[in-house]
Amino acid sequence: MIYNQEVANHDLLRLDRAHVWHPYTSFINPGLVTSVNHAKGVELYLTDGRILIDGMSSWWSTLHGYNHPVLNQAITEQLGKMAHVMFAGITHEPAVKLASTLAKITPAGLNKVFFSDSGSVAVEVAMKMAIQYWHTKGQAQRTMFLSLKNGYHGDTFGAMSVCDPHSGMHNLFHHSLPHHLFAEAPPCGFDIPFQESHIAKFAQHIQQHRQKIAAVIIEPIVQGAGGMRFYSPGYLRRVRELCDKNEILLIVDEVATGFGRTGKLFASEHAGISPDIMCIGKALSAGYITLAATLCNDKVSNGICDNNGIFMHGPTYMANPLACAVANASIDLLLNSNWQETVANISQQMKEELAPCKDFSYVADVRVLGAIGVVELKDTVDTSKLMALFIEYGVWIRPFGKIIYLMPSFIIDKENLSKLTSAILKVVATLAK
Ligand SMILES: *Cc1c(COP(=O)(O)O)cnc(C)c1O
Repeated sequence: MIYNQEVANHDLLRLDRAHVWHPYTSFINPGLVTSVNHAKGVELYLTDGRILIDGMSSWWSTLHGYNHPVLNQAITEQLGKMAHVMFAGITHEPAVKLASTLAKITPAGLNKVFFSDSGSVAVEVAMKMAIQYWHTKGQAQRTMFLSLKNGYHGDTFGAMSVCDPHSGMHNLFHHSLPHHLFAEAPPCGFDIPFQESHIAKFAQHIQQHRQKIAAVIIEPIVQGAGGMRFYSPGYLRRVRELCDKNEILLIVDEVATGFGRTGKLFASEHAGISPDIMCIGKALSAGYITLAATLCNDKVSNGICDNNGIFMHGPTYMANPLACAVANASIDLLLNSNWQETVANISQQMKEELAPCKDFSYVADVRVLGAIGVVELKDTVDTSKLMALFIEYGVWIRPFGKIIYLMPSFIIDKENLSKLTSAILKVVATLAK
């Protein structure tokens, strides 16, 4: 498909190449960069006239697709009132409404909300909350965090320090990062029954370092950027039990999993647990403007604020009204839709249509949970090369490591989802050569 060309694509890409740094790239050899002019629904309109079906939801954020009339209206109305106002000593309706909604829809007990700019910062805030909590409790020696191998929690320093210890970030920054504890990742598979042996190393760390651990931090049920691994709800339940038994705080990072992606509104619900602290971001503001939040329960907020304690964080753009307004509209859209059925249908279709990938000897695993579809290869893929192939097939899919995956917007129809799955099938087939 071709639409009217508006901008000289060549000039744009030349200037981009000269001045613009993209995520996780080299300036010398930046790889493939594609210029998008506008987007609508699940379609990206490229500057060169082509149209791509989006399989990534812009890093898992555009729940309702691009350029949604209801979301556009919410943000435009708010823009007419104010784009921003500082949040110290001031409050506003979009933030209050969002915080009270979040308190209502998140797992029980999480009723204090701290807004910030991005998922990584929400993780920093969560870690600071845990440390301050123990500080007021007179246990300032509790500064360590326990997390999982294959975990991903963001790119800022605190967040990096709890990401998988073998990732590139850890290697590069090894000497600048605080050293925390890591347990084996749970065996991959949502349906794999939990056994006590799966959590042996984790339990051992707790046993050995319980006086020094401030909190456990994990992604619930789905380990995202660390390899798109799903694990058993039984494991998460056991983590909660071990934290309770040893009086360690539990931080759950729902930045990727929140807002229905795994088939539950929050992935913690698969295990029926409630963390002490929870991070959300990505789909929170539906792919419109960056927004994240860290929620905690009364135990944590009272703990921090005992004896006149104050929490030491405050971003300039905290609780940005435009972002809060669009988040409110997005949550209303989601909760007033039949989203469980939508996600179940997307799930079923991906299961059926990605299954043939299993026939290739170099495919290690095909797995689907909620609206997440994953084809794991035995070897690492060439991301740029595969992205170029996907563009030829008219779709936007960005593989990483050994993973080719789909996280489509919930508004995708059957036909467009089939375009995504068949593109994956075709690309996987070409790998044989
Ligand atoms: C993406 C992600 C983050 C970081 O969010 P940013 O908004 O990119 O800073 C943190 N945790 C998880 C689980 C994520 O998937």
